[in-house]
Amino acid sequence: VGDRARLLYTLKRLVTPPQWAGQIAHEVAATALEAVRAGRGADPDALVTDAVRRARRAVADARAGLPALDPRRYVGFEALAYGDDPGDAWWDEAVGAVEAACRGVLAHPLMARLAEVPARIVEVERHVRTGIDDVTLLVALDVLVRDGRGGLVVVDWKTGAAHDPAEVDAQLAVYALSVSRRFRVAPEKVLGVHASTRDAAFRRVAFDADALAAATARVRASAAAMTALLPDPSVDRLDADALPQLDAGAPACARCRYRRACDR
Ligand code: SF4
Repeated sequence: VGDRARLLYTLKRLVTPPQWAGQIAHEVAATALEAVRAGRGADPDALVTDAVRRARRAVADARAGLPALDPRRYVGFEALAYGDDPGDAWWDEAVGAVEAACRGVLAHPLMARLAEVPARIVEVERHVRTGIDDVTLLVALDVLVRDGRGGLVVVDWKTGAAHDPAEVDAQLAVYALSVSRRFRVAPEKVLGVHASTRDAAFRRVAFDADALAAATARVRASAAAMTALLPDPSVDRLDADALPQLDAGAPACARCRYRRACDR
């Protein structure tokens, strides 16, 4: 791997504390549900204790500079990549956010409900491909569970402070599209659930043929926008330097994790 590819890969994996907390909470939720499926049951306190221990280890490794040696193994933080070490209090807050996110997802009422019907859980964070015409859609659903009446329910954990309901609905519609195609069920038989782990709330999102047709159109448009950048759309290869850059000083660059690669 060349230096340029290595730099881009390292930057791609950088996280902010809320993103990191969300990643770990999703992992912990998946571990808990797999334990439930296997009939072992899950111990929330033990899972949180272990997550916090791993988070503290990740912080120590990041502050020691290890992500530069192996960005796949060690967590890289945007704060360290683009500035001085923010100090102990900042890191304590980041680990505290991990603990809160893990406790939030494990204590969510849907987690208790899922634990009552382990045999109905179909998938947990499994990467699956679905063909949408000539586009391959790759999704990993947080949880897919049968409703017991011939339908399927997609649960999407959200650990962040605020989410645009329209964006969440659009994302759930793409998940529902994948489920409807793979399991050959009508759109009305797929229910989306937006589960906020911050306030233990959840919101149901129903679908119909029009909603999934709109999701199909969005998937196609998104794929077309990406392949339009390729010199040869039949070959999935593009020199990163051939991509257009925003003008220097563009506001989006100030928040972009790739700005070092663009000399911004
Ligand atoms: S041009 Fe700006 S927004 Fe685009 S990748 Fe570079 S830094 Fe990021």
